[in-house]
Amino acid sequence: MINLKLFKTKVIDEALSLLSNYWVEPKHLEYFNAKTIDEAVSLLDEYKEAKIIAGGVDLVRLMRNGVIAPKVLVNIETIPDLAYIIEDAEGLKIGALATITDIKTSPIIRDKYNLLTQAARSVAAPQIRNMVTIGGNLCQAVRCWYYTLSPVTGRSFFCYRKGGTHCYAVAGDNRYHAIFGDSECHAAFSSDMAPALSALQAKVKIASPGRERTIPLEELYMPLGNILKPNEMITELRVPTPKPSTKQRYLKFRIRRAIDPAISSVAAAITMGAGRVSSARIVLGAVAPSPYRSVEAEETIKGNVITESLAETAAKRAMSKTTPLRMNGYKVAITETLLKRAIME
Ligand SMILES: Cc1cc2nc3c(=O)[nH]c(=O)nc-3n(C[C@H](O)[C@H](O)[C@H](O)COP(=O)(O)OP(=O)(O)OC[C@H]3O[C@@H](n4cnc5c(N)ncnc54)[C@H](O)[C@@H]3O)c2cc1C
Repeated sequence: MINLKLFKTKVIDEALSLLSNYWVEPKHLEYFNAKTIDEAVSLLDEYKEAKIIAGGVDLVRLMRNGVIAPKVLVNIETIPDLAYIIEDAEGLKIGALATITDIKTSPIIRDKYNLLTQAARSVAAPQIRNMVTIGGNLCQAVRCWYYTLSPVTGRSFFCYRKGGTHCYAVAGDNRYHAIFGDSECHAAFSSDMAPALSALQAKVKIASPGRERTIPLEELYMPLGNILKPNEMITELRVPTPKPSTKQRYLKFRIRRAIDPAISSVAAAITMGAGRVSSARIVLGAVAPSPYRSVEAEETIKGNVITESLAETAAKRAMSKTTPLRMNGYKVAITETLLKRAIME
């Protein structure tokens, strides 16, 4: 006869011992709902290990995967009136909490800043566009399975971005990684909004306790992330009104049209005068650890009439500086084609 008491004890003991292997001490997390920008940046200043949470789509994924473990979260979605999209004499102003859907559906943006409408249309899927904010989109993490969690090995890796001394993508699976740049990190930054905003010469307004500064968007990024200090927050984006003769085009290549981030993307703002290119800003996405301005392509087309062969030469020149890894040479051909098409269109 089975001794039921003994059986129960044994089962429970085993279950408890099994559980203890997997039990993770609950982490203490403080959460503040900021009511004003001042309150948000003061909280960031007071709690050095605090992180801003906006839509949470990127941040929560990184926390869940154990890539980051903030002790304090400052929710900025509770700040009223920070999701505005307005136009005045200085140009377009977008509050940091405007969602990608707000941008995609804004008639002001559609009329004069159409590059942003095109880019917003290509971000993820409607459910995600409804949640994610423009501030969060610009500060999103890079797409690199060695930085986050490798679906291949299920392990996370102590890479440059985590303070390590190694980029595991170099010898590893680097099919989606950067093809430009001499940074030690080869991850690709695949925000769609950043190249589009940069091509339109956007500026970023940044608040910290008692201070505000405005910088060109392209200066927001550095090879291993962005230049924001722990007590700083993006509050607004400013975009000068493009001339009526500025042609705007955003092209993106991704594997599944439904949701995937870019394998490569091109944002082009080309201003025409008397049938020739008078100025051009061309910024590539998902090909470097931050948005990559293609000065070679811009200089090739400037002052010229756009023809197919000029677009081809510009695209080829732009690609002359690539340094693809073992598995991502295909991104060079895709980017070259997108660039040629964007200039032609
Ligand atoms: C399935 C899927 C598909 C996706 N596809 C695309 C795509 O095609 N194109 C694309 O561009 N993106 C894509 N993304 C990424 C997505 O756009 C980002 O996760 C999102 O933009 C983050 O916005 P959020 O408001 O949720 O930011 P959060 O997750 O809240 O924050 C992200 C980061 O930004 C910081 N932050 C947020 N707001 C501010 C601020 N105002 N000032 C300073 N720092 C701030 C946070 O501290 C955090 O570090 C995809 C994501 C998923 C899950």
